[in-house]
Amino acid sequence: MNDARSPLIVIGAGPMGLAAAYYAAKAGRRVTVLEAGDRVGGMAAHFDFDGLSIERFYHFCCLSDLDTLSLLDELGMGDAMNWRRTTMGYFADGGLHDWGDPVSLLKFPGMNLFEKIRYGVQAFYSTKRNDWARLDQISARDWFIGWCGRSVYDRMWRPLMELKFYELADEISAAWMWQRIKRLGNSRKSLFEERLGYIEGGSEALMKAIAAAIRSMGGDIRLNAPVKRILIEEDVLQGVALADGETIVAQDVISTAPTPVVVEMLADAPESLSAPYRAIRNIGVVCVMLKLKRQVSPHFWVNIADPSVEIPGIVEFSNLRPVGKTVVYVPFYMPQTNPKFGRDDEAFLDEAMRAVQLVNPSISDDDILATHVGRLRHAQPICEVGFADMIPPAQTPVRGLQIADTCFYYPEDRGVSESIKFARGMAEAAADTTDATRSA
Ligand SMILES: Cc1cc2nc3c(=O)[nH]c(=O)nc-3n(C[C@H](O)[C@H](O)[C@H](O)COP(=O)(O)OP(=O)(O)OC[C@H]3O[C@@H](n4cnc5c(N)ncnc54)[C@H](O)[C@@H]3O)c2cc1C
Repeated sequence: MNDARSPLIVIGAGPMGLAAAYYAAKAGRRVTVLEAGDRVGGMAAHFDFDGLSIERFYHFCCLSDLDTLSLLDELGMGDAMNWRRTTMGYFADGGLHDWGDPVSLLKFPGMNLFEKIRYGVQAFYSTKRNDWARLDQISARDWFIGWCGRSVYDRMWRPLMELKFYELADEISAAWMWQRIKRLGNSRKSLFEERLGYIEGGSEALMKAIAAAIRSMGGDIRLNAPVKRILIEEDVLQGVALADGETIVAQDVISTAPTPVVVEMLADAPESLSAPYRAIRNIGVVCVMLKLKRQVSPHFWVNIADPSVEIPGIVEFSNLRPVGKTVVYVPFYMPQTNPKFGRDDEAFLDEAMRAVQLVNPSISDDDILATHVGRLRHAQPICEVGFADMIPPAQTPVRGLQIADTCFYYPEDRGVSESIKFARGMAEAAADTTDATRSA
């Protein structure tokens, strides 16, 4: 037990920060979580959407989310996961097509049989493959073109990549893209049946349960407590300074804030310490939410390739998690430097509605019950070619200071389960440094 020592400080109460604090507290550590926002959950937090408690950003689980499942079990919520059969659609050539299984691929317009076979083989092989060292060294673009040919890339992948990453699209690593295909491709009961999950009560239910468990073990979670600086003097960790001027002395700190924020928190530290975090780029997201009177389509996810809207797809979340009404998320990812990022909410709402009406022309403005536009500046790290070599170890050269965010588990994409898994490793490492080096 380390109770006599200063508490382990965890920066951020998203899934990674909460899980790190939970596992550390479970191992006997006194923990204090410092969260900038007014609630726990980070990207997986809820908000009140016109009387409905729902995720700020859609959240689904895949069959491979074993770390979420085991944590739910530990917290006595083993039966909270609901698995449902879900489907995908693809809007192209002015029409909505089924998508995501071999039959819909064969029926899809605009590709010849040879191209379809190549596309299908790449997708299938991706679900089976495990090695990714080579994929880290090539771009997703070159990987797709190599497997499926340029015309399939231009038709199927380029619109999706460019409408998420814009000028960075060609830099994205194949390994990152492969993992996304693999995670979703393996979340199936059979080749023809996709299975996705949602947590009863939404992702917040898990976040609140982890927070309650931390508190029940004596841990402290402080909201509205943004950390301004991580204090380091002559390579020795001193603690953290909060934005309101308070200083907390600590020998162990785990930061789970996004790396661009870490750069700010290390502003007084040597440049060599912050340089690796500065090199990691992020894009933002503007996420439009629509509550509608009617269903848009039966699909959970619809990809869109249409020149009239700059949106790669829409997520009809209520087709996964029943919430009483139709709820659609329309995410606009883009570099924050894109002038579009600064547009007002109305402009995003208009474009989102146009996308919805493309998919289902019978939906009109009269069907809108409520709208919301959420913005996040650091929503998705750019996992570029060679990214594996860009990620510094979570344990920094400063003893007791660990730093990570969602890109540290590359090639896996951001995910609640992945953040939980990574957090467990950091909590174990914090216990190891305490036991091994401090007792000396
Ligand atoms: C649009 C969208 C859709 C998504 N869909 C899914 C999905 O379907 N399934 C899935 O598994 N995952 C999904 N994710 C990803 C998932 O939300 C993340 O992987 C997960 O939330 C990461 O948790 P984290 O704790 O690592 O980071 P975060 O959730 O980002 O938490 C970091 C926390 O640090 C806090 N913080 C920042 N700066 C400071 C500071 N200075 N001081 C103190 N605290 C600070 C933040 O407020 C935040 O609470 C989605 C994300 C987005 C944006």
